[in-house]
Amino acid sequence: MQAAPALPVRGTDARAYRIPTEVPEADGTLSWTDTTLVVVRVDAGETTGLGYTYADAACADFIERVLAAVIAGRDALDVPAAWAAMRSAVRNQGRPGLAGCAISAVETALWDAAARAHGSALCRLFGRAHQSVPVYGSGGFTTYDPRQSEAQLRRWVEELGVGAVKIKIGEDRGTAVRRDLERVARARSTVGEDVAVFVDANGGYGTKQAVRVGAELDGLGVSWFEEPVSSDDLDGLCRVRDRVGADVAAGEYGYDLPYFADMLAAGAVDCLQVDVTRCGGFSAWFRACAVAAAANMDVSAHCAQNLSAHAAAATPNTRHLEWFRDHERIEETFFAGALRVTDGAVRPDISAPGHGMEFKDADAAEFRVA
Ligand SMILES: [Mg+2]
Repeated sequence: MQAAPALPVRGTDARAYRIPTEVPEADGTLSWTDTTLVVVRVDAGETTGLGYTYADAACADFIERVLAAVIAGRDALDVPAAWAAMRSAVRNQGRPGLAGCAISAVETALWDAAARAHGSALCRLFGRAHQSVPVYGSGGFTTYDPRQSEAQLRRWVEELGVGAVKIKIGEDRGTAVRRDLERVARARSTVGEDVAVFVDANGGYGTKQAVRVGAELDGLGVSWFEEPVSSDDLDGLCRVRDRVGADVAAGEYGYDLPYFADMLAAGAVDCLQVDVTRCGGFSAWFRACAVAAAANMDVSAHCAQNLSAHAAAATPNTRHLEWFRDHERIEETFFAGALRVTDGAVRPDISAPGHGMEFKDADAAEFRVA
């Protein structure tokens, strides 16, 4: 006979908030003026877990109509079982994409509930490999003018103490290379020689173009060239990786273990990016990082920094965490207990149960869309 659940799931609530950015933002292949945050609360036993993802508001509806029934009555202490059940349940909806984001939000809420029930910080429940996680400043949108760009870079270096900064290039799908390179050169002169300069083209270049740009980036001392070509073009990533000195990185759109395994097997990256709010949550994060470890690769945690910090701290092959401006602003505004960067790193608070955050419903209410 099956034992009764120690922490039975009693209810699931999902909401979505569309939050305007400070100014219009763009990278090489997308522009936007707002960010949608999907917040999930799972009531389990006497506790409530809080999870989230950054994805379309449709996720909130999908969570309440599909996933809530899958986890109802399950034991929130046995998160991998709930995760597997959710994955099975969405077979016909298509696991990558919105369903994957929805699963990630619920899965992270379940882990938060479990950790709170144990009275443990998430990273303590996982077990830490690192007490702190180095972050790099990420933003540098192509819409910024030189003054905005310099102010952001200076804040990262002078206030946050980061050892690396990342700006967007590949503007207008690779049609503004001269401006891309001028912006990189300006970033380099702003941060000086002791801070690493990273770039992210978001798949904006063609392969040969990325190789030519990469040669210029090598001259500017750029050490990280993210998505020089589409992350779906593993052969293109390999060819850029062979010919450019900077580390080639991709993986932020990984929703499934085979995606990461294929990218690594192709030899397409020097460091694998994994997003805990897309890949399926913490359960999937650790599996993806194990696949990377088997290929002797580091991982870099992609955004959603207050969830990523706990995962990254518990992962031996973490290289760093992307401290993305849009998510930093949302998380420090709408989540009480959000982490702050000091000396270029974050240290998850082990005195606070779960991820240590509470969502400020009243403050976010005006932005609610679902
Ligand atoms: Mg990126």
